[in-house]
Amino acid sequence: MNLTDPVEKLPLVGPAYAKRLQKLNIKTIFDLLYHLPFRYDDFSLISPINRVQAGETVTIRGKIESFTSEYAKNGKLLQKAIVADDSGQIELVWFNQPFLAKVIKTGQNYYFAGQISWFGKNKIMVSPEYELANKTTIHTGRLVPVYPETAGISSKWLRSRLKQALEIFGSQINEFLPKEILQAEKLISEAEALQKIHFPENKTATQQARQRLAFDELYLLQLAALLRKKEWESPKSGQALKVDQAKIAQFKQNLPFTLTLAQERVIKEILEDLQKDKPMNRLLEGDVGSGKTIVASLAAYVAALNDRQTLFMAPTEILAQQHFKTLKGLLEPLGVSLEIVTGSSRKSSTLNLQSSVVIGTHSLLYQNFNTSKVGLVVIDEQHRFGVEQRALLAQKGIAPHFLTMTATPIPRSIALTLFGDLDLSVIDELPAGRIKVKTWVVPQQKRADCYAWIRSQIKNTSQQAFIICPLIEESESLKSVKAAKKEFEILAKEIFPDLRLGLLHGQNKAQEKEKILTDFKEGKLDILVATPVVEVGIDIPRATIMLIEAADRFGLAQLHQLRGRVGRSNLASYCFLFTENENPKVIDRLKTLERTNLGMELAEIDLRLRGPGEIYGTRQHGFPDLKIASLTDVSLISRARKAAEKTLTANLFNQFLQSRLEKYKISTVNN
Ligand code: ADP
Ligand code: MG
Repeated sequence: MNLTDPVEKLPLVGPAYAKRLQKLNIKTIFDLLYHLPFRYDDFSLISPINRVQAGETVTIRGKIESFTSEYAKNGKLLQKAIVADDSGQIELVWFNQPFLAKVIKTGQNYYFAGQISWFGKNKIMVSPEYELANKTTIHTGRLVPVYPETAGISSKWLRSRLKQALEIFGSQINEFLPKEILQAEKLISEAEALQKIHFPENKTATQQARQRLAFDELYLLQLAALLRKKEWESPKSGQALKVDQAKIAQFKQNLPFTLTLAQERVIKEILEDLQKDKPMNRLLEGDVGSGKTIVASLAAYVAALNDRQTLFMAPTEILAQQHFKTLKGLLEPLGVSLEIVTGSSRKSSTLNLQSSVVIGTHSLLYQNFNTSKVGLVVIDEQHRFGVEQRALLAQKGIAPHFLTMTATPIPRSIALTLFGDLDLSVIDELPAGRIKVKTWVVPQQKRADCYAWIRSQIKNTSQQAFIICPLIEESESLKSVKAAKKEFEILAKEIFPDLRLGLLHGQNKAQEKEKILTDFKEGKLDILVATPVVEVGIDIPRATIMLIEAADRFGLAQLHQLRGRVGRSNLASYCFLFTENENPKVIDRLKTLERTNLGMELAEIDLRLRGPGEIYGTRQHGFPDLKIASLTDVSLISRARKAAEKTLTANLFNQFLQSRLEKYKISTVNN
């Protein structure tokens, strides 16, 4: 048997269990070994029966004197047993577990572990864990691992299988960390770490194990990123672009505003990259409204001046349309040709893209098109930050400069770990004159007042409002659309019958979306009711009010991005957060939005409160999930980073490391 064999090859697993295990993402024996406990029950205190104290969690060892099933007053079935050791005896009670009658045998010795409580004048043990006393314990008498479970798969079952798997395979786990790293970092071996994470002798052992396994995750992630970077930067069809400073100055002069210092700085970083013959791979981070589009269009202009094509990709058709208009306004007067690829033009089998700047959605890259001229690819708001897109382009045989943009504030520690193959540029300054969006968490009893205020504001100033429907599911489904429609009906008929309302959701056809947004932009609608799809990038200068329903379902950074839909001009703007959740912690979390308008600060709070998976969508977007490492552990991240660098420079690779890296690898080269 091999570690990579299907888990059902293990004794006592079989097809039925294997199927259930898939729900826990366990397919191979290796996966099982990496199904890690999320906590331990501390049953390590073993006590003589006459010494147990009420309230204490202990393990006792004794012989079953009697076992009975009886009905309690409420009609429920109870199981009771008396267990005795040399020191005394105690009663055990379980609720409604009739199968125990077959398992717990009178006259046999068992360990029992659980909490002691009073029952009248007697101490009893309620619903204890149990196991036969004739072998080393795994369910009692120690730190007992508790695992993520699923229907038909209990922690107890998992423990037994893991014990067995470790016995069989413990010696087959080949160390993949290079010796030099293992020694320098004073880490225990992987085999030892797995043994200790599942069956630790004590708390120190769990820490050692966690340290090693966390190191592994951060190390592999960063090593994979460094490898991608190296691959991407290896000599390619040199696309060094010339930068004509006079033309750049002219571009800037044509703008109706002056660029911020931050914009100037990132432009400089990008222009330096474009002049190199190794392809740029840069992530441009900047709060909503910080002016990333201008920066990207300047890069596109430089490409066009070099007779190179730019592919500019947005996450949705709406945004593609918006970018098309913006870029057209900026670049057409300078003699740059532009075109947009929409759902309908995509239908033709091979696209013949002639213009200098081609705008479309992310699906553009999956099309057949003429690519020889592509010199720059700009990707707006895409969470995997271009890894897959670069791989696709590499397959087409080109390695253009790459600029990925995001309004998601990503702390440097995360950027280094998850996106270590990217260089980072940050616009950390908003254009002057932007007014902070006034934000309130609105208590339920003020809902009517809030609606009344919104009405009068709209009537008196002819400004506009967004109302964001609750986030029902991560990606928009029929269910979300239904809920949005219902909300819209209520708002249109009962709350604001005197105002003009529009509804926007992900299942609107592209043309419908376009029409609704144009209407809203042109002031033909007062309120746009929308599902959270409007989160990314829509620019409506007269929209000054943002109302968000069920705000507690969103992350802070996400709320901040939604809030960024308003306050995009110099008009005073307002954000109202509604929630039915009265938990003070939830309210507190939301109130941070009242205090700060810094995306990065909110992201860091999110990171602490909710973990990276939810914020950066690492799971949905195909990054290997971090099971154990914390992206807030900056010192371990930097140790792992240095180890990864050393592995690369000193070429410490071995076959086990190579195969371990497979999982983390998304190749960007054409092979
Ligand atoms: P985002 O970073 O969210 O993509 P945009 O590029 O869409 O931001 O810019 C938001 C708005 O701010 C646009 O209307 C843009 O024209 C404007 N803008 C960009 N840079 C500046 C600046 N330096 N001064 C004033 N307004 C600016
Ligand atoms: Mg944008």
